[in-house]
Amino acid sequence: MKTYRIATIPGDGIGKEVIPAGRQVLESVAASETESKTAFRFEFEDFGWGGDYYRQHGVMMPEDGLNALRDKDAILFGSAGDPHIPDHITLWGLRLKICQGLDQYANVRPTRILPGIDAPLKRCRPEDLNWVIVRENTEGEYSGVGGRVHQGHPLEVATDLSIMTRAGVERIQRYAFRLAQSRPRKLLTVITKSNAQRHAMVMWDEIAAQVAKDFPDVTWDKELVDAATARMVNSPASLDTIVASNLHADILSDLAAALAGSLGIAPTGNINPERIYPSMFEPIHGSAFDIMGKGLANPVGTFWSVVMLLEHLGEFDAAQRVMSAIEFVTANPTLHTRDLGGTATTAQVTEAVCKQIAATSKASLTTA
Ligand code: NAD
Ligand code: MN
Repeated sequence: MKTYRIATIPGDGIGKEVIPAGRQVLESVAASETESKTAFRFEFEDFGWGGDYYRQHGVMMPEDGLNALRDKDAILFGSAGDPHIPDHITLWGLRLKICQGLDQYANVRPTRILPGIDAPLKRCRPEDLNWVIVRENTEGEYSGVGGRVHQGHPLEVATDLSIMTRAGVERIQRYAFRLAQSRPRKLLTVITKSNAQRHAMVMWDEIAAQVAKDFPDVTWDKELVDAATARMVNSPASLDTIVASNLHADILSDLAAALAGSLGIAPTGNINPERIYPSMFEPIHGSAFDIMGKGLANPVGTFWSVVMLLEHLGEFDAAQRVMSAIEFVTANPTLHTRDLGGTATTAQVTEAVCKQIAATSKASLTTA
């Protein structure tokens, strides 16, 4: 039987609640097909990196930690962020270290309004909002280049330098054009701020025009990032696949998640398209200090990330069954967590999704 080696990194806060739930879903989908020829199993290794590890060792993860991840087929990640440690330390010490170290340069964020979810846009029908945002994930505004001198003095200077390389911009645009080409509408919007940022963002536009020549069947347009926020709200159906820089897409994708109903639902994949290194899948939300440890976290963002993980492994049938189970559960308001206006707990939602996966396995359908 095919075995996939999965690293789980719950991290901090509600990451410790939703990642075990995600693992349960992966185990359910594997267990539901053990009789079939295409059956597969998972071998999990759990890494206790994050804030607690930092308190013991002074670092978020071990120096050689990336080596333990390299031979995995995929990584399931929770969240980095601890109420007692500065955010730039937790983020750079764990999540960005993995994304940059494993060259996961494409951050892919699908957004849809799932059945049963009351989304905030009044005039937006569920079919009007079906986006995938592609975020450059290794350079740009978050390249980490910069510094501070004369700290605390009136003369203090601080810089965060945005680094955009032709190679980096071209590979993310190529990825986005290819993704747009694979979707029914074959529609791509390239987002920049090339009026105010007149060097690197102008290069983005030029590279987009060059790459577009290799994708004659993809319809594409350009939008400035500020105008893009208004377009997402006012005419969501005019967008399909979107590509933007690290910072711009970071902000746009939180807006997208909110427009689809809750931050607790949205998934993401940090992809190394060449598959030289494993890719990492995670809900887009953070540690949610206000609800951690209470069993209130919505695990759907993690489950949808599990769907992306299964698709990445090529297990499309299993991915589809998990997605259908998620939609079956979101359609039932009694299974909504508090962020969606309901009273269900993380455990209840998880159990309902696992039960639905079991109920829709090939074995159960043929014996029914
Ligand atoms: P957050 O996503 O943790 O929380 C924002 C709000 O959304 C909170 O009210 C929270 O309760 C709610 N929420 C988020 N996920 C939810 C879920 N699954 N179910 C129900 N409600 C949910 O963002 P924040 O408050 O800005 O950040 C908290 C910490 O998390 C910070 O340390 C931040 O740096 C970190 N963070 C990490 C990541 C990551 O690791 N990828 C992403 C974002 C924030
Ligand atoms: Mn973000």
